[in-house]
Amino acid sequence: SGPRVVVVGGGFGGATAAKYVKRYIPDAHVTLIDGAKTHVTCPFSNTVLAGINPLSMLERNFDALANKYGIAVVTDMVTAIDPVTKVVKTKGGVSIGYDKLVVSPGVDMKWGALEGYDEAASMIMPHAWKAGPQTTLLRQQLEAMPNGGTVIISAPGNPYRCPPGPYERASLIAYYLKTQKPKSKLIILDAKDAFSKDKLFKEGWEKMYDNIIEWVPAAKNGKVIRVDAKAGVLETDFDKFKPAVANVIPPQSAAAIALASGLADKSGFCPVDPNTFESTIHKDIFVIGDACVAGEMPKSGYSANSQAKVAAGAIAAMVMGDKPAPMSAINTCYSLLAPDYGISVSGIYSVQDGKIAGIKGSGGVSPSGAPYQFRKKEADFASGWYAGICQDSWG
Ligand code: FAD
Repeated sequence: SGPRVVVVGGGFGGATAAKYVKRYIPDAHVTLIDGAKTHVTCPFSNTVLAGINPLSMLERNFDALANKYGIAVVTDMVTAIDPVTKVVKTKGGVSIGYDKLVVSPGVDMKWGALEGYDEAASMIMPHAWKAGPQTTLLRQQLEAMPNGGTVIISAPGNPYRCPPGPYERASLIAYYLKTQKPKSKLIILDAKDAFSKDKLFKEGWEKMYDNIIEWVPAAKNGKVIRVDAKAGVLETDFDKFKPAVANVIPPQSAAAIALASGLADKSGFCPVDPNTFESTIHKDIFVIGDACVAGEMPKSGYSANSQAKVAAGAIAAMVMGDKPAPMSAINTCYSLLAPDYGISVSGIYSVQDGKIAGIKGSGGVSPSGAPYQFRKKEADFASGWYAGICQDSWG
């Protein structure tokens, strides 16, 4: 009797959307489809690289969504979406019809966009930009490298998943090196000249990792233009590097299913109505999270969670014949520089001049020059945030 709502992807966006659609429309038939039985979160995966937490800490299953909320959970890859007949098809050969469809498949790496970096290369020089086996591989390489070796992180140009992520990663790997392999170095080769919270990162690096981290911006020949994974070499315009460990974070696009179903534009991401997250290309399909174009909102788990609630609210309003409320969304990105040193950036967003933009004066970043106790508190907040958002999304 109720509407059929299908959700593709059980990460931060999809899991939250499934749960909140069911909350807002109790008689809806909600189906959540994810290719994996367990979602492994990227947030906190940098602590796994540093040996602070085990990978199992990142694993989330869909049991509570199924058992507590009555969501039908399907483990299968969605291979096609037909926006005309409104049917989703899976690799396992199942067809599922929908009235409203939420698509939150995250990103995929753009293989070959960085010369020499394809999927085979990522088995030698991991990206670890999706958590799971890639995280384990990079961790093993860090454990195996000698004291005195060099780690290189190649950071991409904008836009990409988790703007402060490469720099949190650099910090936590440096923490591991400082405590376990103190003669080692870490170089960030960057395709950009500025990055999220850069002043705060640099302040922390100077304090804690002055002899370890070197950041090379694009203007100083930092942009990696070619890799030869088999030879272990990364190249910029004027230099070649052969580090002990190379972590290559390549350019990204909306995940394959979003591209295959024609939901993306030439940017590689999916344009949406900023108030509802309904695709501007296909009606009754809502694209949220990393895959969508969300104006000034960064591609983060918190953004995806917040956008999911906006989309769920819009779907409920549409199904009930109401007008969706104006959108309002929130994001905070915590970054750890050490287990007891956290910083953050926050924003609250609305639609301004037809685009999602930060509300003036609503957000901000942690103060610079703050005392140890303040940074320690933000590190505690980061853990609290992670527990809270996981509970809200999957619990
Ligand atoms: P995802 O969470 O990636 O979920 C996508 C899901 O869709 C996956 O489970 C996948 O299996 C499934 N899927 C994909 N294609 C299909 C298909 N065809 N069929 C079925 N299922 C499919 N964000 C924060 O807010 N805070 C942080 O501290 C933070 N730290 C990060 C650290 C790192 C190192 C990285 C890489 C990212 C970090 N992020 C952080 C960003 C965060 O991980 C992403 O923004 C978030 O996961 C986006 O959610 P999503 O729902 O769009 O995609």
